[in-house]
Amino acid sequence: MSEYICRLCPRECGAVRNEQEGRGYCRLGNLPKISRCAPHYWEEPCISGTKGSGTVFFTGCVLSCVFCQNYAISQERRGRTVTVEQLSEEIKRLEAQGVHNINLVSPTPYIESIIRCFELYKPKIPVVYNTGGYEKPETLRRLEGIVDIYLPDMKYADAELAKRLSSCADYPKRALSAIKEMLRQTGAPVFDGDGIMQKGTIVRHLILPQHTKNSIAVLELLKREFGRDILVSLMGQYIPMGRASEFKELGRRITAREYDKVLAKYEELDLDGYVQELSSASESFVPDFSV
Ligand code: SF4
Repeated sequence: MSEYICRLCPRECGAVRNEQEGRGYCRLGNLPKISRCAPHYWEEPCISGTKGSGTVFFTGCVLSCVFCQNYAISQERRGRTVTVEQLSEEIKRLEAQGVHNINLVSPTPYIESIIRCFELYKPKIPVVYNTGGYEKPETLRRLEGIVDIYLPDMKYADAELAKRLSSCADYPKRALSAIKEMLRQTGAPVFDGDGIMQKGTIVRHLILPQHTKNSIAVLELLKREFGRDILVSLMGQYIPMGRASEFKELGRRITAREYDKVLAKYEELDLDGYVQELSSASESFVPDFSV
């Protein structure tokens, strides 16, 4: 792929990117850089099932969350650059292992290569697009017919907090319009006879320490905008990682009181989806990106 000017994500850098490097906010080249391809067992039950989700962890990210739970790959950019053909082979290899789906994690900067990869080979199992939620609807429209399941975050309803922790004050409105486009493409959730998702949108929210007001506002926003057409996955697994120690309130796990407060709102709103136990906050759930 030759050099081009990139406006793929809401950063809209207009930066030059070539195969190996880029001068945009994400500082990534066009060719996919991947840090891990392996079955993963700690996604939502309808995604991981019993055979695992075939995850492809892409290196880098268009966000820069100070608390990123995958900091080593998102911001330290550990990984290896592959060609589109090699990415296609990795996907075939995962599919041959019998996983329930192909799960593209943080794929946004590589959309051009990903589209070409699925032109070479489209797996017979669902394709999951697993993203921080900071997306442009016009870019997502190019994935219609390729992606079966969207798995975006909705991290913030509070623009100030989004600016402080992820350097994107426009996150709430951008994520909301992205989720609308995702839901337009997938429709309401569809499962097979074993309860494994085939189509649909699951929105994740990670509760941050001392920010339960933001969490409650996110849940209210999701209910108001989407009702029960989307599934909402509430996550209590936060552990301090990345630059979290530089932010006073982020240097600890969430308390049982914080968790219970947000969970009570989730139940009061009668949201449909998944709730992660507070006890699941453990570094053992962070994938090993060194393998
Ligand atoms: S994908 Fe990277 S270079 Fe392109 S607009 Fe987003 S941050 Fe900028």
